[in-house]
Amino acid sequence: MIITANTRLARMLKQAHDKVQIENGHTVWTAPDILPIAAWLDRSWRSWIYVTNAANPVQLLSTSQERAIWEGIVARSDAGSELLQVAPTADAAASAWNLVHAWKIPFDARDWDNARDSEAFRGWAEEFQKLCDKRNWISAACLPDFIAAKIASGEISAPPHVQVAGFAEFTPAQERLLESLRQKDTVVEILLTLDRAGRQSAVRVKFDDSLHEIRAAARWARTQFELDAQRGQDEPAIGVVVPELSKYRSAIERLFAEEFHPGGRMSPDLDSRRAFNISLGLALSEYPLIQSALRVLRMNRTGNIPFDDVTILLRSPFLAKAHTETAACAAHDLRLRSLIEPELTLSDISANAPPGFKSALARWELEHAKTSGRKFPSVWSTAFAGELNSMGWPGERPLNSSEYQTNLAWNDLLSEFAALDSVTGEVSRSAAVSMLRRAASAREFQPESEPAPVQILGELEVSGMRFDHLWIIGMHDGVWPRATTPNPFLPLRLQRSLNLPHSSAARELEFTSLLTERLLASASEVIVSYPSKESDTDLRPSPLFANIPEVPQGGLELPKALGFAQKLHGKDIEVISDSIAPEWNGSRAIGGTSIFKYQAACPFQAFAKVRLGAEDLETPTSGLSPLDRGNLVHDVLSAVWKELGSHETLITENSAQLRAVVHDEVEACIRKLGLKRRALLSPRFAAIEQGRLEKLVADWLELEKQRQPFKVISLEEQRAVTFGGIDFTIRADRIDRMDDDTHIVVDYKTSKHSPKEWDGDRPDEPQLPLYAVTTDVPPAGVVFAIVKAGESKFAGLTGSDGILPGIKAASGVEALSNRVPRWRMVLEKLAADFRSGKAAVDPKQPHQTCRICGLQGLCRISESNLPDEGADSPDSEAADD
Ligand code: SF4
Repeated sequence: MIITANTRLARMLKQAHDKVQIENGHTVWTAPDILPIAAWLDRSWRSWIYVTNAANPVQLLSTSQERAIWEGIVARSDAGSELLQVAPTADAAASAWNLVHAWKIPFDARDWDNARDSEAFRGWAEEFQKLCDKRNWISAACLPDFIAAKIASGEISAPPHVQVAGFAEFTPAQERLLESLRQKDTVVEILLTLDRAGRQSAVRVKFDDSLHEIRAAARWARTQFELDAQRGQDEPAIGVVVPELSKYRSAIERLFAEEFHPGGRMSPDLDSRRAFNISLGLALSEYPLIQSALRVLRMNRTGNIPFDDVTILLRSPFLAKAHTETAACAAHDLRLRSLIEPELTLSDISANAPPGFKSALARWELEHAKTSGRKFPSVWSTAFAGELNSMGWPGERPLNSSEYQTNLAWNDLLSEFAALDSVTGEVSRSAAVSMLRRAASAREFQPESEPAPVQILGELEVSGMRFDHLWIIGMHDGVWPRATTPNPFLPLRLQRSLNLPHSSAARELEFTSLLTERLLASASEVIVSYPSKESDTDLRPSPLFANIPEVPQGGLELPKALGFAQKLHGKDIEVISDSIAPEWNGSRAIGGTSIFKYQAACPFQAFAKVRLGAEDLETPTSGLSPLDRGNLVHDVLSAVWKELGSHETLITENSAQLRAVVHDEVEACIRKLGLKRRALLSPRFAAIEQGRLEKLVADWLELEKQRQPFKVISLEEQRAVTFGGIDFTIRADRIDRMDDDTHIVVDYKTSKHSPKEWDGDRPDEPQLPLYAVTTDVPPAGVVFAIVKAGESKFAGLTGSDGILPGIKAASGVEALSNRVPRWRMVLEKLAADFRSGKAAVDPKQPHQTCRICGLQGLCRISESNLPDEGADSPDSEAADD
């Protein structure tokens, strides 16, 4: 029997054994008894339960039961009554309990101080122990001692020979367990894996940041894989070790999938056959199948349902008719988005829903009504299964291998939840859903897959493993040696005197040095890399790798990065440029001045938005969106100036009169918008918005008072124009006539803007230049009125100084009169490009432009060769005008 430190090593040793059998010509052989220590303890426990004669044998608590007991104890305690979040504290107390048992920390030791946290933990632990004694339970932390005792008493038979592999160190509890085997004459052999002779070369490489580092490691892994295949090595062992695996897991998943399986999204069953495997699984709650289930369980019949849940359920493939009604459900999602409500009622969702989805909702409503009030978890478990079933979960199409395994894990979780009756008693529906959700979040899950040649692992999992090639990522001085993180509930002095993990810098240095040796000995060829920056912090290589020679990135001789198409189809592909659409034969175009803005930002954006009518999806937000807020400011200022009419009235009204005008107009605009936005129906929310707007507008009017005299002659007036062969409507927010009869054109903005946005061949904000080139009366000024709390100002161009506060007239080529002909040329060129069908996917500033465009799914920019800077969320502020 071989007992390993982790599942991965057990699997690898089994595979190695199978390989040897095959190489020796065997077709059948006895499966080796290789298993991780947790599985061995569990097997020993089960074997004891089957043979014991005890009338009332002890019960081993499941993870969910332990969690529920700790939460109950912490919540009921005096210390717990002050906590904002009981669940994380209960989790931390449970880990302290595990440490106490693994490291044999005596509760009566003198070192237990009177610190509040330690005292609180000691109280909780005593209660936990009392409860276990009373109910005849034991926790998983006590299992090694329990098994050791049963081996000693002969109730569990000891095997004749045990090999132990992959342990970086043993806890005292594990030592005792092994000693109990030795006492029964078992030969216990500790397999040491340190093999200095294995390493032939190691180099260190610096990268700009972690993303570049991971991307290079992915390319290196693919190259090694291909080279080994060319050499006829059919089962290469390529390792990538990442100490901060949980932090970088999603980036690793994305970048390795792009490198190894660029077309992976087109083969849904790829998961079980991938060339790489990440040792760290996801929380069960993060799998789409489980997310759908949890969202169904969160729905309620009488209250509001978050839009985020509704949209995901409508597009989930795991509900009734999801396959046959995909398009109808997507259309219904669009309809619901147009309500722009962050929360919807069941009747909102049901109205006009596709028939399959609608009848599933009706079935769910009946099922949901059957169970209410406080019930035992076993009752809720049955009710939840029924509710999911009524919604057609897990869907009409057959589940693939990973989904099938995920479904089994969910069933297991529900059964574990059902076994909580004796621990929690009766609980409400919301408490039951929340317990189930927390249990799903706490359970790490990884579907079984075919053995993969590329293994991506944490540093502790490498113990005992051998690779042909190994890359160690992220070895900077902030991570290696690791920082000390003593347990907050155990006295620090005690942790240090017993040499607990993470308790002191000296211990971390010693342990990390040992791991470093083991990592470097795990392969004959090792690359150690580190990022030189993280955010604004400069990083240096870990001092533990100081002896390894540093080489430039070019020294790795990695092949050039391939584009998406090349990765997908190989290097020899024919490139066909397809950036010219048919000529535009219309005259009138939807979109108004936006046509010019889109064409300048990205020709494909103009083609798709104006000619194909493509749009970004509406996403309801809580309260008001930035667009709503921007429109409110426009509406209020328009209404206020309609009332005032001129600079003279502004300065002659007394402050009380002015305040009253602003108050009334803000109130009227909020009332009008409140007819469309439910958020504004809340009196408290409306009052906050009223106060904010009144202050903003009052401050703005103070700035307007400093101007030379003017009359407002136009507000939001629309004008039909023809320019560059395109008919469209142009609108200026406001036009003021000065005493000398010249005009100032004003464009309100509620975020930062600058007149630089009118410059160049691809202007960001061509609206005012368009106005200037299409008006019969040449303006004496074109300006942004930036109405923003604390930053309000005019920004723009005027023909002479002093017309507007803070604006000096430019001279020479930069003078307004000289800019207008240049603007005309640029805008005519943009119009001609649009008409001639120029539609290249060519964003002006790839990351910024695409962020606010919303058409990434249509133009597939992410599949181009543009450098990747990560998928940041759209810049909401930029959307408010
Ligand atoms: S997402 Fe970017 S590349 Fe695609 S259409 Fe929009 S701006 Fe152009």
